[in-house]
Amino acid sequence: MELLIENIAVYSAVILFCLVVIFIYLRKQKRDSKRVEEKIAIAKLEGSYEPVSLHPVVDENSCIGTGACIAACPEKDILGIINGKAKTINASHCIGHGACFHACPTQAITLYIGTEKRGVELPHVGQNFETNVPGIFIAGELGGMGLIRNAVEQGRQAVENIVKSLRKTHDASYDLIIIGAGPAGISASLTAKKHQLRFLTLEQDTLGGTVFTFPRSKIVMTSPMDLPLYGKVKLSETSKTELLDFWKNVLKKNDITVKENSKVESITSEDGNFKIETLNGDKYTSKTVLLTIGRRGTPRKLGVEGETLEKVAYRLLEAEEIRDKNIMIVGGGDSAIESALLLADQNKVTLTYRNEVFSRIKPKNNEKIKEAMAAGRLEVLFATNPVKIEKDSVTLATNKDGESLKIKNDLIYIFAGGELPTEFLKKVGITITKKFGEAVLKHK
Ligand SMILES: Cc1cc2nc3c(=O)[nH]c(=O)nc-3n(C[C@H](O)[C@H](O)[C@H](O)COP(=O)(O)OP(=O)(O)OC[C@H]3O[C@@H](n4cnc5c(N)ncnc54)[C@H](O)[C@@H]3O)c2cc1C
Ligand code: SF4
Repeated sequence: MELLIENIAVYSAVILFCLVVIFIYLRKQKRDSKRVEEKIAIAKLEGSYEPVSLHPVVDENSCIGTGACIAACPEKDILGIINGKAKTINASHCIGHGACFHACPTQAITLYIGTEKRGVELPHVGQNFETNVPGIFIAGELGGMGLIRNAVEQGRQAVENIVKSLRKTHDASYDLIIIGAGPAGISASLTAKKHQLRFLTLEQDTLGGTVFTFPRSKIVMTSPMDLPLYGKVKLSETSKTELLDFWKNVLKKNDITVKENSKVESITSEDGNFKIETLNGDKYTSKTVLLTIGRRGTPRKLGVEGETLEKVAYRLLEAEEIRDKNIMIVGGGDSAIESALLLADQNKVTLTYRNEVFSRIKPKNNEKIKEAMAAGRLEVLFATNPVKIEKDSVTLATNKDGESLKIKNDLIYIFAGGELPTEFLKKVGITITKKFGEAVLKHK
């Protein structure tokens, strides 16, 4: 009898222990799931839930909730676990590393481009990187595949193909004009140099492409890559500055100069060659063209007097270093408001917006800008438009007849939206198709 009681007591203790463990586990799972659900709700409000390009799709039947995908992803809060299954949170922040795809032990993740709701427009590019316009090639993220390593590899391969098809004699000034100096354009330029082509690289902005716009603190992840005229590059985790310095040095050593601040406006066919014209009015002729312009597009200009002054910028980099300036922000979207708020504490910031109220902005930004206005941290001038930019002032037109405001100014940031690269491609005659959820990386 005593033994029986002892056994019952032991078994009860074990069962109780197990129940406590299960209870704690379930409570933690519930709490964690709730946190992820809250993050998803915020992502939906802020517009980052719906993917814009590449993104992971989880097969819930295969997912066992190990969280290996979350641990592997170098970006933050793209995936989370709800009730033991992985779900996407900020899917639009996915840049397509594919680390989640490789990390999942049950192969539950597939990488897609576009969704049923939001298609992604991609140009037609053949195996040899040539488009439907013979002589115009595309490489890098513009073709649909992100990441620095892929862009470098494609830039190299595209030029190798151009070399094979290029006629030795022609009457154009260049064999090849490369448009865009991001990772793909840099690698293409090095390959063109290696093959002794007569080539020119035009960049609308500054060398480095999208990498140049990364926040300074971002850790750049890249797998080893083969850079033409250099060899294997093993910078697996690096900083933006280190990567940009590295590229500048390699280009310098090979005597390659990228023509910066040269935005290509048009490409037309003329007597078997291409005529390329830039915004500055420069004209070139080339036998072939390689587009390595990425997918981020071109900021829209206001078209007002003085816009070419050096103090005018279309994006904000290293805000913390800008102090004690009179700054004008132009625009009423999220980028304009976020930039104004970032600069407000250490500068005198005025925001000019052509409408009477902010619309289409994240609720959080709406709240923050109202608070900042009420506290006098910055000034917002609704229903105004810049009409003239001078060295130390900006003139705004108001909606009152003929009335204008001249405001002291050191720096002006314009956030007036942008022209998508697809608009540019259509003008050139390149066929575009919309991908509504196509698997680009899947297990066999
Ligand atoms: C926030 C963020 C983080 C990322 N982190 C990583 C990471 O850690 N690791 C990684 O591998 N990848 C990362 N990526 C992705 C990576 O930056 C891109 O895949 C890569 O830069 C694509 O290279 P690209 O040369 O094809 O295009 P881009 O780098 O976009 O370069 C295109 C260039 O073309 C220029 N251009 C455009 N239009 C014209 C025109 N009309 N005339 C002249 N020039 C023009 C642009 O100014 C730009 O310099 C990240 C992307 C983002 C947005
Ligand atoms: S593909 Fe990359 S960025 Fe996207 S979720 Fe997977 S690991 Fe993160």
